[in-house]
Amino acid sequence: MVGTIANSSFHPATASIQMLGGLILRTVITGGAGFIGSHLCERFLSDGHEVICVDNLLTGTPRNIAHLIDQARFRFVQHNVSEPIEIDGPVDHVLHFASPASPVDYLTHPIPTLKVGSLGTHNALGLAKAKDARFLLASTSEVYGDPEVHPQREDYWGHVNPIGPRGCYDEAKRFAEAITMAYHRYHGVKTRIVRIFNTYGPRMRLNDGRVLPNFMKQALLGQPITVYGRGDQTRSFCYVSDLVEGIVRLLNTDYSDPVNLGNPAEITVLELAQEIIALVEGTQSSIVYEELPQDDPKRRKPDITRAQTLLGWQPVIDRAVGLKRTLEYFRSVV
Ligand code: UDP
Repeated sequence: MVGTIANSSFHPATASIQMLGGLILRTVITGGAGFIGSHLCERFLSDGHEVICVDNLLTGTPRNIAHLIDQARFRFVQHNVSEPIEIDGPVDHVLHFASPASPVDYLTHPIPTLKVGSLGTHNALGLAKAKDARFLLASTSEVYGDPEVHPQREDYWGHVNPIGPRGCYDEAKRFAEAITMAYHRYHGVKTRIVRIFNTYGPRMRLNDGRVLPNFMKQALLGQPITVYGRGDQTRSFCYVSDLVEGIVRLLNTDYSDPVNLGNPAEITVLELAQEIIALVEGTQSSIVYEELPQDDPKRRKPDITRAQTLLGWQPVIDRAVGLKRTLEYFRSVV
C-alpha cells in the first residue's frame, strides 16, 4: 500500500500558502505526534516552515499536536511510515523521528520497532531521495549499547546484545544509521544523523515507563518510587528545547557523520529519585528497589565535543530548571 499525501487534502488554508511557490520550506516530520517530534513540529512552524507531521499514533498522541492543528502551515497525516509514503509537491527536509523510544514501549512493540527503524527509514530515505530533500535520522545513544567506553564519543562502535530485549531497538537504529550512510554514499542524499541521549520535558507520556515520567508520576501520586537495581547506574538528561536547538543546527550543516546530542551532566538513577522527591513538596513517596532489567546500560554520558565544535551547541537548561518545568506539565496531566 502506498500512502499518498496530496497537497490539497488536509487543510483548506494551505492552498494559499502554497501559492507563494517555493518560498516556504516544506518539512516532513515522521513521528511528529510523539514527544520530541511534536516539539520539532512547533519549532519548524515558528521558523516559518510548512510542516507535514506523519504519525501512526502507536506511541504518539493527537494531544501533542492539538495546539498546532489549526495552523495553516501544519498538516497531520495518520500513516505508518513502515509502509511506503508519497507526498505531492516539493519537500525540503525529511526528519525521521518515528519509533517507539521507551524501553517499555519497544519491549511491547518489538516488531513495529524493528520495522520502523528498517523499512520506515528506507521509506523516509526514499522520499528524501525522490524530492532531493535533506534527511535527518533520529538515532540514539542506544547504538552504544551497554558501553565499555565512557563518556561515549561518536567514534565508539558500541557494545550491543543483538538478541537481548533491547536488541529490537538498538539494532533497528544501527541498521537505520547504516542505510542512511548507504543512501548518502551511493545516492548522494544529503543526510544527517543525530544520536539522541536521554531527553525529557513536557509531553513525555505519563505512562511510557521511562525513569523520569515514572518517578514524577509516583511522587505526585504519593506512590513508591521504583528504583531498578541499586540505582547506581547513570544517565545524563537533556531538556527538550536544548535538543531541538541542536537538531536545527545540525540540519543546517552539511555534516553527514553522526553527532551526539545530550546533556553531559551525569547523575545516578538514585540521585534522580532523590531530586524528584525533594521537588515534589509534601510527597509521601519513599524509594523501593526493584529488579534491574536485562542489559540495562550501567553508565551513559555523551561526549559532546563534536556538537560543540561543529554546531557551537551545548545545553543551556540546567536540570533544576528543566525538572521544574517538566513537573508542572505532569501535574497538569496526572
Ligand atoms: N529506571 C528505574 N526505575 C523506573 C524506570 C527506569 O530505576 O521506574 C532506570 C532504568 O533501569 C535505567 C534508567 O532508569 O537504568 C533509565 O531508564 P529509561 O527507561 O528511562 O531509559 P533508558 O535510558 O534505559 O533507555
